[in-house]
Amino acid sequence: MTTIYDFIVIGAGISACTFASLLNKKSPDISILLVEHGRRIGGRATTRQSRKNKILEYDHGLPSINFSKHVSEDILKLVSPLIESKKLLDISKDILLINEFGLLSKALNANLIYRSSPLMVNFCEEIINQSINRKKINFSFQTLIKSIKHINDIWEVKANNGILIKSKNLILSSSLIAHPRCLKILNITSLPLRDAFIPGKDKVVDTLLKETRKLTYIMRKVYIFYVSNLSLVQSFNNQYLQIIFSNVIKEDLNFERIIFQRQSDGSIIIALHCFYINNLPEININNIINSLKSLFTNYKVFLDLFSEASLIDKMDWRASQPLNHLLPKELQWSDSSKIGFCGDWFDMNSYGGVESAMNSSLSLVNFLNQS
Ligand SMILES: Cc1cc2nc3c(=O)[nH]c(=O)nc-3n(C[C@H](O)[C@H](O)[C@H](O)COP(=O)(O)OP(=O)(O)OC[C@H]3O[C@@H](n4cnc5c(N)ncnc54)[C@H](O)[C@@H]3O)c2cc1C
Repeated sequence: MTTIYDFIVIGAGISACTFASLLNKKSPDISILLVEHGRRIGGRATTRQSRKNKILEYDHGLPSINFSKHVSEDILKLVSPLIESKKLLDISKDILLINEFGLLSKALNANLIYRSSPLMVNFCEEIINQSINRKKINFSFQTLIKSIKHINDIWEVKANNGILIKSKNLILSSSLIAHPRCLKILNITSLPLRDAFIPGKDKVVDTLLKETRKLTYIMRKVYIFYVSNLSLVQSFNNQYLQIIFSNVIKEDLNFERIIFQRQSDGSIIIALHCFYINNLPEININNIINSLKSLFTNYKVFLDLFSEASLIDKMDWRASQPLNHLLPKELQWSDSSKIGFCGDWFDMNSYGGVESAMNSSLSLVNFLNQS
């Protein structure tokens, strides 16, 4: 007999994991399945393992977790145990700024900035581990959802591998299958969320679809370089270092920040984040290295690293972060269709990114409590 889950959550990023963990704390017997296209947990805040050299693991998406000074008590309740156990490390001292004259200085930041230790992927894992009845939270990875249907009060969710899964409630933790960008990405001709509803049947969904269309995203390209020369990397003292590029450099070169992440064997991964609004151009790698060398010309330790760095990976984030037209939280839950939405595409009156993603999940669980 087919299992009918209480909840299917599409996605396993920060908002999905926060939602599943919070719901499990409130109702430990509810069954939840998180269906994720990627190979592991974390979404845009995950970690990639090199296929060629399994020892190398690097954060190729979100590099650090920012919380505003006004972060909610509820979020603090979730993250405080991680801060106390040093699974979230305060990295405000490990962030520098480089200006167009090649001078490094301490970056001033009004936010609380953390990194998940040892890797970004561990943040979502730890949030899930906070659940009370872990057995009730299941995962299906490398599963891409292309079609959803609501038939006789049951959600039927169809994956690219032909698997059909069913649930009483459905949560979309990503805007993907509600946003026109999915047509190209999934190679389909109509929006799966629109196809699930006759227009006019569900006001919340109709409005959400209309508003989601307006969402635009910051695009990012992350270049991953590797420095394996162990005698050379010894002169670099940090376990982790993030350097933010000044606005002039951002405008000239599209460089946003560069992260140095020590590997378990002492070698170093360097992730260069580039920032775009309308398209993702290809840049010549030699030009990138030369630009970095000329920016860091005053600092031998960085010059040596860039001279030895080889490109091992590249990640195109076509939708790294919503830019504007965030959705109101009133659209997060439709009680008549038992469908809900969470993620950083909702306006949660907070810093954005991770803080918004977590706040949206807290808010969605509150909607469910009321319904
Ligand atoms: C390079 C980079 C830099 C960033 N920098 C910043 C920053 O400086 N400040 C900031 O605030 N934020 C930043 N962000 C954004 C931040 O990472 C996100 O706001 C946060 O991780 C969002 O979490 P989420 O759970 O809402 O979404 P996601 O992490 O995107 O989770 C959604 C998940 O759903 C999955 N999914 C979607 N559709 C389907 C489908 N049809 N089938 C199966 N699975 C599906 C996706 O694979 C994904 O794993 C950055 C992101 C990137 C990538």
